[in-house]
Amino acid sequence: MSSEQTFIAIKPDGVQRGLVSSIMSRFENKGYKLVGIKLTNASEGLLREHYADLTAKPFFPGLLNYMLSGPICAMVWEGKDAVKTGRVLLGATNPLAALPGTIRGDYAIDVGRNVCHGSDSVENAKKEIALWFKPTEIVSYTPAVFKWIYE
Ligand code: UDP
Ligand code: MG
Repeated sequence: MSSEQTFIAIKPDGVQRGLVSSIMSRFENKGYKLVGIKLTNASEGLLREHYADLTAKPFFPGLLNYMLSGPICAMVWEGKDAVKTGRVLLGATNPLAALPGTIRGDYAIDVGRNVCHGSDSVENAKKEIALWFKPTEIVSYTPAVFKWIYE
């Protein structure tokens, strides 16, 4: 089960605010393995597909503009329970409700500027990874520290 993958994105505010390395460090320090990364300007079509379940929400137009407002750092992180634990590292959707120590709890205030995205289920992680990355952009390797992270 150590090969579960999750899609994590640093949203345009996180990139603009220089939080890329700080957010990546949370996942690296935990022990997760980076297997895909790109800095990209997402198209409206991609974002409509990514947030397909939210298109009817009143906040959707604002969300779309937010996600179109600058480059996004799209990543795939791999490891045991990466999807669920990735969400824990992110914190609650509303940063004011996110606990200190989480990314949103430490770096954000407004829900519409919550600096990061993380897949909410293994099924959605697979869909999101396929949407944002070509199969050849995901790498496979064994970190030298693997046996010091997993028993
Ligand atoms: N969002 C918003 N207003 C809301 C709820 C959500 O602007 O009232 C934005 C916010 O950026 C959030 C994204 O829409 O991260 C997707 O919402 P979701 O409920 O999927 O939250 P997430 O999975 O990102 O925690
Ligand atoms: Mg979501």
